[in-house]
Amino acid sequence: MSLLQVRGLEAFYGASQALFGVDLDIAEGELVALMGRNGMGKTTTVRAISRMLRTTRGEIRFDGQDLTVLPSFRAARLGIGLAPEGRRCFAGLTVSENLMASARPGAWDQPAAIALFPRLGERLGQTAATLSGGEQQMLAIARALLTNPRLLILDEATEGLAPVVRQEIWAAIAKLKQGGQSILVIDKAFSELRAVADRCVILARGKSVWTGTPVELTRDIETEMLGV
Ligand code: ATP
Repeated sequence: MSLLQVRGLEAFYGASQALFGVDLDIAEGELVALMGRNGMGKTTTVRAISRMLRTTRGEIRFDGQDLTVLPSFRAARLGIGLAPEGRRCFAGLTVSENLMASARPGAWDQPAAIALFPRLGERLGQTAATLSGGEQQMLAIARALLTNPRLLILDEATEGLAPVVRQEIWAAIAKLKQGGQSILVIDKAFSELRAVADRCVILARGKSVWTGTPVELTRDIETEMLGV
């Protein structure tokens, strides 16, 4: 059985419809890349899955449970950890306070997060506002991990970061995958995504239009559906 099973997902911002039928499966331990050009509905899909956006139709099952009837805090309790686009850490709180604010019991605690991102360990007493973009992204991922999620969702995992920091984030994602973490990741760095993903799902105009392994994702499909 899939850990996450999305069927015919539609989503709405007020009267405006953003998703028109997204199907998505994630098995336990799988890393799925959600791809698509700008504005095709990737962020909306993960907001719907994490129940930040609740005006949806269609089916979202997580571990067999229907998420569409739950508020977002309950979805988080069930085990969906989102590192949102734009990072959204508490700017005025220290790194340590940010980590504590999201912590729930489990294998991921502050020392484990620091082992993954040693830079955070050197900055525990610093406020999040004073971190570099890369460090803020590490903090956002660490915060999501400290909820001990069964599914970790990373929206724009490396957007706007310096190349060396991007490499650090991709290395951390690869480590998490090796450790058996189920992950859904959105990023514009397609070659890095392909290198780490088990499967890719492509969205176009609010619909899932293609799914397959990175090997099956040919140049032609990339050009046609991703414009690269
Ligand atoms: P990007 O790669 O640019 O982040 P995306 O694939 O994540 O794009 P979404 O952000 O999910 O795409 O946007 C999908 C559609 O929903 C777009 O047409 C967008 O304009 C619309 N949309 C997104 N957020 C809102 C909002 N808060 N209110 C109204 N429409 C929105």
